[in-house]
Amino acid sequence: MTCDEFIPIAAEMQAHWWAFPIPASALDQYAADLADLPAENVAAAVAAHAAAGAERPPTAGQIRRRVAELELDAPSWDDARTALVAWRRGADRRRAAADAWECPRGECDGDLLVQVDERTARPCKCTAAYVRALRGLDELPALVGEFIGDGHATFSEICKFLDEENTTLEAQVRGRWREFIDRVISSRVLAALPEGSALRRLEAARQEDDSRRERHSEPRRLDMLSLVSGKAA
Ligand SMILES: [Zn+2]
Repeated sequence: MTCDEFIPIAAEMQAHWWAFPIPASALDQYAADLADLPAENVAAAVAAHAAAGAERPPTAGQIRRRVAELELDAPSWDDARTALVAWRRGADRRRAAADAWECPRGECDGDLLVQVDERTARPCKCTAAYVRALRGLDELPALVGEFIGDGHATFSEICKFLDEENTTLEAQVRGRWREFIDRVISSRVLAALPEGSALRRLEAARQEDDSRRERHSEPRRLDMLSLVSGKAA
């Protein structure tokens, strides 16, 4: 995006957040900080920021984050949940298919073992495909599959909140989903920043700070949980 391309976007910002005039020097800074992004993405990001009810015009960093967010287009929790319901329902079918496993390589008898000699057997190379078919993560939207595959929520947790309508557990998993998506967006923001730029160093430092704070807040979150459950008991 060039400085000229930013002028109409800045005018939009000015019209929306009229209480926060953008000085001329800031125009150049915005244009410099967002130079590598297409103008239409910047315009869309500013519109999304306004639509989200932000009370102040976005900083260049916030625009970058919105751009990454729009590009990622992650499913909402409701959509992720709907996909998980279907995935959960498919578990019996996948189990049955796994029980009748036929080696796609024709190397084992479906027992995932290849006889080397009379005494020894080695795992068949089809094992990874077997596990993949059994887990069925390919049946989920890519990000939801990644969320489960990375272990942010276990199969039994998913079953528990779906089957028992355990809203407390669902709120926890939803929180982890939100954090997971935030981290994916952050890493996309970082990856999109020009190599070796000052902005990239700043963003990397900021993310390092965030993850340190997250690690520190972990025990507090656990304490809160035990307090809550202590009160309930
Ligand atoms: Zn095999």
